Amino acid sequence: MSFSQLGLSNTLLNAIQTRGYTQATAIQQDVIPVMLTGRDVLATAQTGSGKTAAYCLPLLERYLQTTHSQARTVQSLILVPTRELAVQVGDTLRSLSLGAARPPKLAVLFGGISINPQMLHLRGGADIVVATPGRLLDLHSKNAIKLDQVACLVLDEADRMLALGFAEELKQILALIATQRQNCFFSATFAPNVAELAQTLLNDPARVNI
Ligand code: AMP
Repeated sequence: MSFSQLGLSNTLLNAIQTRGYTQATAIQQDVIPVMLTGRDVLATAQTGSGKTAAYCLPLLERYLQTTHSQARTVQSLILVPTRELAVQVGDTLRSLSLGAARPPKLAVLFGGISINPQMLHLRGGADIVVATPGRLLDLHSKNAIKLDQVACLVLDEADRMLALGFAEELKQILALIATQRQNCFFSATFAPNVAELAQTLLNDPARVNI
């Protein structure tokens, strides 16, 4: 199916074309229209399915549709288990933002490197944040980031997040962000602990490939 049937604006359709995508993948066809309505999503998503663009495009659309004041506040938060995935999601967001009149300010935050450049980058706020849970909490505890305006939360590779022991960090992050928000949950597998996390997080989700 062509991307033009999914409800995305021309700015994003142009960026998709520049990136070289011609047809939407199955998960993109299912996830994009639902996420654009603001509904919660519960998706079975394997690496290689095109899941990253499936959630990045609606987040970018939401950003483009919002009237912006000068101040940048975190509108969308994407939590990922690893540095590698954080970098990959950041690259996808960046390339799909090309051509926007006022591109979103992105922040890609992960541990294992100095926190200071990340703190500096967050001065003046950010619009879309990709983060691993531990480093996000560190930055929050240093007052480097405000999360009370998050309107959309994405959990990517939720099963790996739990396997890596991030359950407690996730709980702490959920307590920091606004309760009125859209939640999107992506996981390759649904063991009982993953299903339980999905159930606590999601409100009447649309199920994709489940
Ligand atoms: P992901 O499953 O998100 O890790 O994506 C796997 C790979 O597919 C990445 O290299 C993407 O850039 C690429 N990709 C995502 N969506 C499309 C699409 N609609 N057409 C072609 N390639 C895509």
